[in-house]
Amino acid sequence: MKLILLGAPGAGKGTQALSLSEKFDIPWMSSGDLFRSHRKENTDLWKQSFGYIEKGLLVPDSITINMVLSWIDENSNKGFLLDGFPRNIYQAESLETHLDNSSGIDKAIYISVPDEILIDRLSSRVVCKVCGIPYTKSDKNKCTVKACTGELYQREDDKPESIKKRLQVFMDETKPLIEYYNFRDKLIQIDGSGTVESVRESLESSILISNK
Ligand code: AMP
Repeated sequence: MKLILLGAPGAGKGTQALSLSEKFDIPWMSSGDLFRSHRKENTDLWKQSFGYIEKGLLVPDSITINMVLSWIDENSNKGFLLDGFPRNIYQAESLETHLDNSSGIDKAIYISVPDEILIDRLSSRVVCKVCGIPYTKSDKNKCTVKACTGELYQREDDKPESIKKRLQVFMDETKPLIEYYNFRDKLIQIDGSGTVESVRESLESSILISNK
């Protein structure tokens, strides 16, 4: 299965991705986590990307697309679950072209959540430094994913100015993808405003139905 998770920042893509990738036995890639994995070594890729990430802007396509397509080539023989990519039409088309021999992705799942809830979630979010799994600030201070125990921290782009910018970028650049995939009959839409468990159930059942 080749799946894409679409949704505004804070919609719950990262929260749902790990269990979906385990349930359907497909590797998960978060493009934001791929960027952040370069921070510790302060690689050239991080130096070129950090300024955009900090301001809540999209990293240029020329950097992002190469990074993600290389990940796909190295990891996706069983399919994939992409979280955070594509984020604009150009990225979506580059992905389709790259997957040309295999007729593209199977489904793009849009997790829809009202803005008030997104802002609330992002302002109280901390994430694991090691695996990127998100938690709520007051929850705990170490990651609880098996064999991880990474420290939790607030992302630099979860500060109020960047949150506002990221939501605007989502509206302007990423939301057109909903129509793009709908037109190609590949869109599944899920209400992401409920509890983690209820959203997970809707996601899993709609993927199972669409895969029949
Ligand atoms: P995320 O962890 O998905 O919220 O991504 C954090 C930041 O990484 C975004 O605000 C962008 O600056 C950058 N980023 C992640 N994915 C992409 C992408 N597909 N295209 C451009 N920039 C991206």
